[in-house]
Amino acid sequence: MRVGIPKEIKNHEYRVGMTPMGVRELVEQGHQVQVEQSAGVAAGFSDRAYEQAGAVMVDDPRAVFSWADLIVKVKEPQLNECGWLSADQVLFTYLHLAADRPQTEALIASGCTAIAYETVEDAHGGLPLLAPMSEVAGRMAVQAGAHCLEKAQGGRGVLLGGVPGVSPGRVLIIGGGVVGENAARIAVGMGAQVCLLDKSIPRLKQLDERFDGRVTTLYSTRENIEQQLAQSDLVVGAVLLPGAAAPKLVTRAMLKQMQPGAVLVDVAIDQGGCFETSHPTTHADPVFEVDGIVHYCVANMPGAVARTSTLALTNATLPYIERLADDGWRRALQEVPGFLPGLNVHSGRITCAGVARAFDLPH
Ligand code: NAD
Repeated sequence: MRVGIPKEIKNHEYRVGMTPMGVRELVEQGHQVQVEQSAGVAAGFSDRAYEQAGAVMVDDPRAVFSWADLIVKVKEPQLNECGWLSADQVLFTYLHLAADRPQTEALIASGCTAIAYETVEDAHGGLPLLAPMSEVAGRMAVQAGAHCLEKAQGGRGVLLGGVPGVSPGRVLIIGGGVVGENAARIAVGMGAQVCLLDKSIPRLKQLDERFDGRVTTLYSTRENIEQQLAQSDLVVGAVLLPGAAAPKLVTRAMLKQMQPGAVLVDVAIDQGGCFETSHPTTHADPVFEVDGIVHYCVANMPGAVARTSTLALTNATLPYIERLADDGWRRALQEVPGFLPGLNVHSGRITCAGVARAFDLPH
């Protein structure tokens, strides 16, 4: 099969759809791979590395799009890219269509088969192609929050690990899923005092066992959130209600109970955010202040650590890409457990119930 990897063109997107390691696996299995020139440079993968892995480098993105049977990307195609897709092509990437009507209509018009990373499931109903980016964002949340706590960044001047004779900082994590667990791991590693809230008792039990007493787990109620907020230096928002906007668990009024210079990191901002005062920010201008509380609300946190994120993404996507390339999309979607829910658009129709509902379209 002919596999094409264009350079990402979305603003501040530094990741690339596949590493040279992934290219090498495909080429050794007899597939052809074209990569757009400099597609991997921002993530630390040179054109030479792709050539050594067996790819052909191409300087025109339209040439990659028109040549490939399967196009592998990171972010949703931009509207000009949608115009280069055709009915006999398969697109495999993050799509997030339910929040993007123009892109949905453009993919329908192209007639292509579009498979979204974020709706592929594993055997237990988990989201294996979303999880690596949640792992990255969770770990980054504490790193970013620790930086924001520095005085020069507007924070309250607290070192999360403390020092001998001085208490460590307090970290509150709301939501104990993939993001929350990874945030807790880094916060514990830094030596902070960590409290984690979730609505799921089985999940709290699992985390309690995993962290072996190094994290306090609490059931997520308004009362517990209010009590914890008052003593926390850093609060990480990591809740998710699948398919719905994030609940606003910290209101503006609650900020008054917090210590001036405390930091909120709203990882759930891509679902609208779980703090009432959040709005999306970018890596170029990541923080703002409301009532003396520093807010970090970057919607694509993994983009900042493009190399780690690209490596983690290819690790997760490669087995699916190999099946698409070896067996064709029809057989791969039927035979690989959980792959079929990834199909979002086919032959001018929406094939994902959530997306169809969002735009009142047939599917
Ligand atoms: P997840 O499904 O693994 O975990 C979500 C957790 O929230 C679950 O354990 C759930 O029980 C818990 N929860 C639900 N309601 C709650 C409540 N009222 N109080 C406390 N906990 C509650 O999801 P995840 O992979 O950890 O992702 C979390 C969020 O982070 C999502 O919105 C995701 O899209 C987002 N995310 C953002 C970025 C970014 O760059 N900003 C990157 C990756 C993920």
